[in-house]
Amino acid sequence: MHEIVIISGKGGAGKTSITGAFAQLAENGILCDLDVDAPDLHLLLDPEHRTEEEFWSGNEAVIDQDVCTGCGQCVELCRFDAISETDGRFTINPLQCEGCKVCVTLCPAEAIEFPQKHCGDWYVSSTRFGVMVHAQLYPGEENSGRLVTLLKQKARQMAEEQGLDLVLCDGAPGIGCPVISSMAGTDLAVVVTEPTPSGLHDLKRVAELCENFRTKVAVLVNKWDINPAMTEEIEEYCRSRGYVLVGRFPHDRAVVDAMLERKVITEYDSGPLAETLEEAWSDILNLLKTIQK
Ligand code: SF4
Ligand code: SF4
Repeated sequence: MHEIVIISGKGGAGKTSITGAFAQLAENGILCDLDVDAPDLHLLLDPEHRTEEEFWSGNEAVIDQDVCTGCGQCVELCRFDAISETDGRFTINPLQCEGCKVCVTLCPAEAIEFPQKHCGDWYVSSTRFGVMVHAQLYPGEENSGRLVTLLKQKARQMAEEQGLDLVLCDGAPGIGCPVISSMAGTDLAVVVTEPTPSGLHDLKRVAELCENFRTKVAVLVNKWDINPAMTEEIEEYCRSRGYVLVGRFPHDRAVVDAMLERKVITEYDSGPLAETLEEAWSDILNLLKTIQK
């Protein structure tokens, strides 16, 4: 079984549109949306939840009002100004609490509890292109890396149980925690970039991250025709680093139109636009065959 993650050094490079098309072209695979902070693959694939589970992680300090004596010491102890008093009642603002546990340890009445947090939910769903594992982390919640690891484990387990040979992941933008977690055990990272100075800059950052994980890198330049000279520069850089170029995708209004109809590009268009992605997908599959497990 192989695992591919589609990433981009930044948001807005067209990663999810391209992943959606690959989801249709992929056969025998499990789909996985690892952008747990701001998932959007579901907007294209319209998943129907088969199972829904809570994600609990991290801890939060909570004052038990029945035990609290109102001494006020916790307000002084908290370096993050997370604890306040109103009309003699002490409460903790979860958005300001850093979970340092100082108040929990030093409250003389042992009135502060430290339970795990319900940070989000994750799902196994049916889509018109097969099973998808995905999640939604609640706003401001941390531990996205742990949730990404959980989703990947579930997707791999399902692929093995069902005798499927591919896990296709839509990764998060940037190079933060969820992207780092999505790299673990991945065979191939397909980096979607665009021909701008920031596109090249972000490609370098995320590809360097892939190299640290010894993950093979393939690159697809989206909207290549808005700046052919920059596309050349990006491709030259890729060749110099040994990254595989799997295609150039043009700027085309049909991409937006497809999205408005909640279709992937290869459903919406059957002409040269779709052919470009089919060729890129074919190159990716051929590349996978060269990667030893
Ligand atoms: S230190 Fe403990 S007992 Fe004192 S106000 Fe804070 S929670 Fe209440
Ligand atoms: S756990 Fe730390 S940050 Fe949170 S309220 Fe207590 S002292 Fe403040």
